[in-house]
Amino acid sequence: CGIVGYIGKQDATSILVDGLNRLEYRGYDSAGVALFKDNEIDVVKTVGKLADLEELVADEQPSGTIGIGHTRWATHGKPSTPNAHPHTSASGKFVVVHNGIIENYVELKEELQEKGYHFESETDTEVIPHLIEENYTGDLEETVRQVVAKLEGSYALAILSTEEPDKLIVVREDSPLIIGLGDDEYYIASDIPAILEYTDEVYILNDGEMGVITRETIDLSTVDGKPVEKEVFEVDWDP
Ligand code: GLU
Repeated sequence: CGIVGYIGKQDATSILVDGLNRLEYRGYDSAGVALFKDNEIDVVKTVGKLADLEELVADEQPSGTIGIGHTRWATHGKPSTPNAHPHTSASGKFVVVHNGIIENYVELKEELQEKGYHFESETDTEVIPHLIEENYTGDLEETVRQVVAKLEGSYALAILSTEEPDKLIVVREDSPLIIGLGDDEYYIASDIPAILEYTDEVYILNDGEMGVITRETIDLSTVDGKPVEKEVFEVDWDP
């Protein structure tokens, strides 16, 4: 339902939680964040309200200068903590948040289960981190292109990996996603209000486009690898 993300110099935790609060009006049944630090990705998530997530975050104190967050509106699998996003591959190396619906997840899940992958949730989303792990070639961007080619349905995705720690990858098809431009920092969100407090300059991704983001650089392309040139959209409304 709602996605936020950050890569930069600041601690991302409060940016993610604030951003999720600003998307609260869209409705949700669970929420979570993932933060990258010391070569590990720490996932904190729970069914219930953002206040419940904030309590967990206060207890567990995740931190890091790269992170992704999600509020879930369940489509496949009941509202529950295991079904909350972010979702992680078995090795813990690939972490994903997803808005939308993967229409062909049953067949993808069966293929993965035959290969020995174990599922922690009932969601359609969980096929994605496992597919990334299964297909990882040493190049996350290339792997994400291969994996989204297998997906049918709608998705806005934000992906983190311990294999390529200083990078955030986003991709969309039939579900909104924007990238906010800061000063050696980037924000991502499913909707402008989540990040308007931090920046009013955004790239609006179109269907079939992806962004590969580091602290200093951003590469926009189509999922089949053609470079994309995009105008910066100036948001002219007040936070
Ligand atoms: N289909 C996914 C799920 O049920 C994502 C739902 C959403 O967009 O929040 O977990």
